[in-house]
Amino acid sequence: MLLIDCPWCGPRAEVEFRYGGQAHIAYPEDPAALTDQEWADFLFMRDNPKGEFHERWFHTAGCRRWFDVVRDTATYVLRPDPEHDA
Ligand SMILES: [Zn+2]
Repeated sequence: MLLIDCPWCGPRAEVEFRYGGQAHIAYPEDPAALTDQEWADFLFMRDNPKGEFHERWFHTAGCRRWFDVVRDTATYVLRPDPEHDA
């Protein structure tokens, strides 16, 4: 089980959180202008690196706030996301 460090609550067990997928995915400015393929890519296509991955977590059992972390997908080491803007 992961120990996730919520920026507001401190370290908590993974079961208190919900995974939110890849971070820094910008919502399209004009979704209606996208082709079906572009819309599908926005909805479903995500990076799958071996190594550092920016991702979102939601502290469901705590402060109920979203935050970003960087997780190493090979070691599961988590650290705060330097691009975090919350
Ligand atoms: Zn929290």
